[in-house]
Amino acid sequence: MFEVSVEYSFAAGHALRGYKGKCENVHGHNYRVKVTVAGEKLNPIGLLVDFADLRATLKELVESFDHRFLNDLEPFKQLNPSAENLAYYLGTELDRKIERQRVRIHSVTVWETDTTSATYRPPNP
Ligand SMILES: [Zn+2]
Repeated sequence: MFEVSVEYSFAAGHALRGYKGKCENVHGHNYRVKVTVAGEKLNPIGLLVDFADLRATLKELVESFDHRFLNDLEPFKQLNPSAENLAYYLGTELDRKIERQRVRIHSVTVWETDTTSATYRPPNP
């Protein structure tokens, strides 16, 4: 199996609802998102996916979060904007957007800081 990953960063604010502690208050992160896709077969020129295409798809999704307060944006008006839920949301949306004949979303990791991250792995089809 092959895996291909791309990363993208953005800055945003959030406040965790129901959290007892500092993260309940409005604060910001320089988020980093890593998407890994997986598949068995390469295309005729030896690629699983084009890095540029995958990164563009990720950028398209994440750009709307940049320099925004996540709690004000769909789907985080309801869904708590935790790193876990961000990874879940991005994984689910990316899964809808990628060309699925050869690849699937293997994982999405969201870093809030250099040392704290959450990963979502969609269930195998
Ligand atoms: Zn936070």
